[in-house]
This record gives sequence, structure tokens and C-alpha cells, in this order.
Amino acid sequence: MTRTLLRIIEGMATSDGAGVRLRRSIGRGPDARLDPFLMLDEFSSENPDDYISGFPAHPHRGFETVTYMLDGHMRHEDHMGNVGELRSGGVQWMTAGRGVIHSEMPQQESGRMRGFQLWINLPAKEKMKPAGYRDIQADQIPVAELSNGARVKVIAGAVESGGTRVAGPIQGLSTDPLYLDVVLAPGSEFTQPVKADYHAFLYVYEGSVQVGDGEGRTLKSQHAGILSPGDTIRIAAGTEEARFILLAGRPLREPIVQYGPFVMNKVEEIEQAIVDYQQGKFAEPA
Ligand code: MN
Repeated sequence: MTRTLLRIIEGMATSDGAGVRLRRSIGRGPDARLDPFLMLDEFSSENPDDYISGFPAHPHRGFETVTYMLDGHMRHEDHMGNVGELRSGGVQWMTAGRGVIHSEMPQQESGRMRGFQLWINLPAKEKMKPAGYRDIQADQIPVAELSNGARVKVIAGAVESGGTRVAGPIQGLSTDPLYLDVVLAPGSEFTQPVKADYHAFLYVYEGSVQVGDGEGRTLKSQHAGILSPGDTIRIAAGTEEARFILLAGRPLREPIVQYGPFVMNKVEEIEQAIVDYQQGKFAEPA
């Protein structure tokens, strides 16, 4: 069964870090999450005032942060001593686990900065695992050129379409995420099999698309579209090129208690996270 568009969440203008302007769709409120996805922010600006102040040192506990740069250059530094250069087309996949303290700072004073930060929840049994970090440069992200006019970058999981299967660098996580960046030529379409009970959404960042069989339903840019259950995803472009990211994953179906950058299952675990952070325990070896 082909998935349809169940709910549309418009990206809401907000700011985070030291004043970085962004659009938040998934996670713009507690009722706008899509288990296991907690939050999606899009940042996109040619104006350095919108991004230059960056994200100075801050903590995370209990989930993963995935930063995908379309354009620009940011530097990640964390308490474990990792330094990562995040450049156009690259991905940083950080597992905060029991705790990470890091900064994400622009390394450009002009030009376009554009990309996404996605938060993916961890299951209760993995929330306190040691922090981990991966830098994935643009040339490590495979690109599938599909015969029906779609060009797909495969960050996590695998694209499967018309006999082609291309797997991305991120595999084997508990939430089994699919993370694709798709460019659709005018008049083309993209289909992708997906486990019927996985939660899935797309976020359009250029143009607009039709979601579902037949005429489908329109999803415009700067909007997230949450998909109904089903084993097939079908997305078609109109008369103009369209670009979107597509995410799917295994829902955790566990309680969520969030306090800013701490996402746990119980209130007591949030209280513990605050105490641990104040006592400097995030920066200690596991
Ligand atoms: Mn962060």
C-alpha cells in the first residue's frame, strides 16, 4: 500500500544556539514529534547575521544529533577532543548517549549556510551508552542516479528503486533510520519500499511535490509531511525541479521526557541529567 500524506507541519521560524535563525518543523511542539524523530531544523541564509554566532558549548544526553550541510562550513568540537570540519555535502552523526558537550561554530564570515539538524531518539537501554561521533565527508555519501529522473544521496539505510540498491554509510542502528536527500527532475517521480509500520516523513526544501498514488497531495517547500503507514513511498515532482529529504525509522514507543537538550524516559532521569551536567560529569570518561 502506498503511503499518503497524513499531516503537514509548516517549518516555524525560530532561533537557537547564540541566535542562529532556523525553521523548526518536526519538534516545533511536543505534539509535532514523529517517534523516533524528535526534531528537524532547517537553516538557510545568505546573511551571516543569521548564523555567525553559531552554537557555543552546550550539552546533549539521551539521543543522536545528525547535521547535514548542504552549503557552508561549520566546526564541531567536543569534550572528548574530537574536532570535525563539516563542509558542503557532509554529515556529522553524533550519538550523545550519556552525555556530550560540544560546540558547532560557523567557519565562514559570508556566503550561504544551508543544511539540517535532525534529532533521533535512542531506546531507553542505549540512552546512557558512551558518546560517539562520526564525520562523514561528502565523497563518502553515495549518490544513486535513478532511471526515472531522481538523484538520491544516501546518508542512512538504502535506496531501493527499479532494481537499484545503494546503501549509505550509516547502518545497523536500533532505530534503523533511512535518510535520503532527493532531487527530482521536473515531471519525474521517486518510489521507495519501506517497512509498513515504520514512521516516515519528508521535508521539502525546494519546489513542491505530490505525495501518494495518482495525483497525490501537494507538499510545498519549508513543510514537513508525515506519511501514513504503508510499504511504499511515492513522491512526484510537478513541472519544476524539487528537492526534499526523506526520513523513516523504527518507532521506539517509549515515554519521552524532554528538557531542552536532554531527552530521557522519566522525570527523575532529567533531574539526574541536570545534576550530572552541573557537577561536570558529562566531561568525565565513561
Ligand atoms: Mn548540539
